[in-house]
Amino acid sequence: MNNTIVTITIDDGYKCTFNSIFKFLKDLSIKTTWFLVSKSIGGKLENSDVIDIDDIRKLCSIGSEFGSHTLNHPFFILSFNSFINVFKNSVKEILKHKTYNQYLKWALWSKFKKEAKESKSFLENVLNSKIKSFAYPYGIYSKYFIGVLKDLGYASARTTDDGFNEYKNINPYRLKTKVITKKTTLNEMNEWVDEALKNNLWLIETYHLIYGDIQHTDYLCTTILTQFKKHILYIIKKNIPIMTQTEVIKYLQKF
Ligand SMILES: [Zn+2]
Repeated sequence: MNNTIVTITIDDGYKCTFNSIFKFLKDLSIKTTWFLVSKSIGGKLENSDVIDIDDIRKLCSIGSEFGSHTLNHPFFILSFNSFINVFKNSVKEILKHKTYNQYLKWALWSKFKKEAKESKSFLENVLNSKIKSFAYPYGIYSKYFIGVLKDLGYASARTTDDGFNEYKNINPYRLKTKVITKKTTLNEMNEWVDEALKNNLWLIETYHLIYGDIQHTDYLCTTILTQFKKHILYIIKKNIPIMTQTEVIKYLQKF
């Protein structure tokens, strides 16, 4: 029996992404998982507009799932060594691009509990339902983070670790993904689907900004709208179900 499933996750909840894909998702009844930064809802994240409560309700009405992506989207410092590494890389970046990400917020690992807890209760109040999924900002996580998420009642967490998820061998708090950037071609994306189908895997895709036909943005994690649509149609053509992160986690409990 083939259990191949695709999950479409969309990080940060950019308004531009919502405007691009909402009608398409609605017309094709496609359920997606949106990871939101609570304090950015109806405001801005890294200087881009983020969806508001009205948009969230619209997405809810078509079966979308919402997960937490913390309160503030901080870059967590896990240890002194990791801080030194990050610092060295930032200096390199600054020297290379003569600029740095002025929106980057730092936080010590000890702030993680507050970020994961308060973002969860905020979203639960807005949506009047339980929040079960989490995505680590910048893909940074640790054993301690996983323990906190379990204690808070999250059922799963998506990393940015590259790969597919094998049903027999899943750690629900370290879900692997394929991150789509400007450099990702439609061919590559469709090949992930073929590989998942061939090897009976759960493919989780990570999108950020999904934009109109012309790519006039510097943001690395951008996908062209027509490419996104063609790829989704490819998944549908292959008869692979598209499910939310929590739907798949529930489905896995049957194994
Ligand atoms: Zn993010």
